[in-house]
Amino acid sequence: MIIERGVLERIFKSCETGYPYEVAGLMLSNSGGRVVEILPVSNVHEDDRRVRYRVDPMEYYRAEKKAEELGLQVVGVFHSHPDHPAQPSRYDLEHALPGWFYLIVSVYGGRVSGYACWLAIENYGGKRFVQEVVSAE
Ligand SMILES: [Zn+2]
Repeated sequence: MIIERGVLERIFKSCETGYPYEVAGLMLSNSGGRVVEILPVSNVHEDDRRVRYRVDPMEYYRAEKKAEELGLQVVGVFHSHPDHPAQPSRYDLEHALPGWFYLIVSVYGGRVSGYACWLAIENYGGKRFVQEVVSAE
């Protein structure tokens, strides 16, 4: 997946700012498949915002509208893992949409320490993640 360098920096910044809570946002790409914009979404999970995120369906709806206005397409979600590695959790897999990219940013002590991108795919009636190379350019 290709992410515009400035956009990746904005993602990192928002993940650090939101620490120790999980931060999430939608990633929008242009027709060339390059992520050129993000739309932050609020984390509405009821139980524990440090380890879970859930995006309000209305926010998805508004994001789709906004993407359409901009001539872009929603291709996935980024979210942070405060004090955890950039590996998807079981919860992440359960809530993943096949065909969407999931960029996970690991934030330790308020600083980004790594990231990884995962593509959700259908797998024998279930789902799994395959890791994707990210290039920031
Ligand atoms: Zn996660």
